[in-house]
Amino acid sequence: MNYLFERRELLLWSVSMEEAEPSSLHIMAKPTGSICNLDCEYCFFLSKERLYPDSDFRMTSEVMREYIAQYVNAVPAGDVMIAWQGGEPMMMGLDFFAESVECARAYATPEKNIAFSIQTNGTLIDEKFCDFFRGNSFLVGLSLDGPRELHDAYRHDKSGGETFDRVVRAARMMQRRDVDFNILCSVHAANQGHPLDVYRFFRDELGVKWIQFVPIVERINADGTTLLQEGDSVTDRSVDPAAWGDFLNGVFDEWLVSDVGDVHVNFFEAAFASWAGAPALACIFAETCGGALVLEHNGDLYSCDHFVEPRHLLGNIMSAPLAELVRSEKQRDFGEAKRSALPRLCTECELLFACGGECPKNRFLLTDADDPGLNYLCAGYKAFFEHVDTPMRAMARLYRYGRNPSEIMEILAEKQAAMRSAFTKAGRNDPCPCGSRMKFKQCHGKT
Ligand code: SF4
Ligand code: SF4
Repeated sequence: MNYLFERRELLLWSVSMEEAEPSSLHIMAKPTGSICNLDCEYCFFLSKERLYPDSDFRMTSEVMREYIAQYVNAVPAGDVMIAWQGGEPMMMGLDFFAESVECARAYATPEKNIAFSIQTNGTLIDEKFCDFFRGNSFLVGLSLDGPRELHDAYRHDKSGGETFDRVVRAARMMQRRDVDFNILCSVHAANQGHPLDVYRFFRDELGVKWIQFVPIVERINADGTTLLQEGDSVTDRSVDPAAWGDFLNGVFDEWLVSDVGDVHVNFFEAAFASWAGAPALACIFAETCGGALVLEHNGDLYSCDHFVEPRHLLGNIMSAPLAELVRSEKQRDFGEAKRSALPRLCTECELLFACGGECPKNRFLLTDADDPGLNYLCAGYKAFFEHVDTPMRAMARLYRYGRNPSEIMEILAEKQAAMRSAFTKAGRNDPCPCGSRMKFKQCHGKT
């Protein structure tokens, strides 16, 4: 599974169609379709091979050129991100990407800034690719699930072998050659209980500043596969809802005291946007969605990366204009359903402003009132949003007063120092300085 986030905004989490300026349209293209050189157990995309039984899964030069021409023309102004994803897109080889860069640049105008990105498992990265990425300012997303044992739990190669060393080697090589990259970390049953091990590994051992976490939720279809977004049970590899909340909270607590503004974590930045009253930074937290589409290797355009399935096929860009498919009623209905299909529990939830009911793909539970459409991860998001409420309010306040939200770290450090000093001065029968209304000896002074 591959996603990528960008410096300016998070690609997977793009703004809604209604709020979107035309330039916020994002299309991720899969030049090898679902084909990958690895065999990660939780990958939702490998099984999509069954949608194209007679294909060689290689985007032709003709499709690539048509796609880029139409995509660049569909965006009137601003950034146009040519984003490659898979499967494993690097299996196309360097020449394919070199041709795509040359093609895209031919359509650049003063109003349009063409940028490039690629999401990869990293195992095919070599020095030539590094130089190419750097020379063309590619942003590379590298899939890595944490330290060795946690990463290797599900991310295997075709012969079941471990992949950790190859991915870390790619990270080191990109650092040496100054390639701009960030980490995509899937959170699943194996690493959900290790938020600090995962976060500190990325921050301290790898030295990365941009981290995107993605919860793994694999729905089991009636035939036992995970091909479609159907079914109300999940695989054992899927993240547990409560553990998802604990994972985010564990990382957040560490980030809050030392890394605000320095290490960028997708969920924290998305939450900050909500608390600051900005438009949703992530499609999953927006009221509506539909602005992040996927192009398959043969030119088929789908509503979303998570819904590459026949009922969400919009058409093929070789026979229908891409701009029309993007603006089609079918796609508008897809994006609007995110809001209209919310259960009452969500519409009345005080966290809806930040949560938005999250992604429709995860809405397969019944509420206590037997309303369908409750998000599988609701318990985790509730725990997370409630946990971050106070510091997010404080950061949003700083921001509103023109101060840097990262000042929260100094404020917290001062408060902690004052609290420590109050603890040392408190008598056993005094009220506890923490504000619990208990005696010190029954609270923080308990021996
Ligand atoms: S279906 Fe989910 S991932 Fe796709 S655009 Fe909507 S919210 Fe985003
Ligand atoms: S926290 Fe739960 S109830 Fe509230 S909006 Fe999100 S999914 Fe719905």
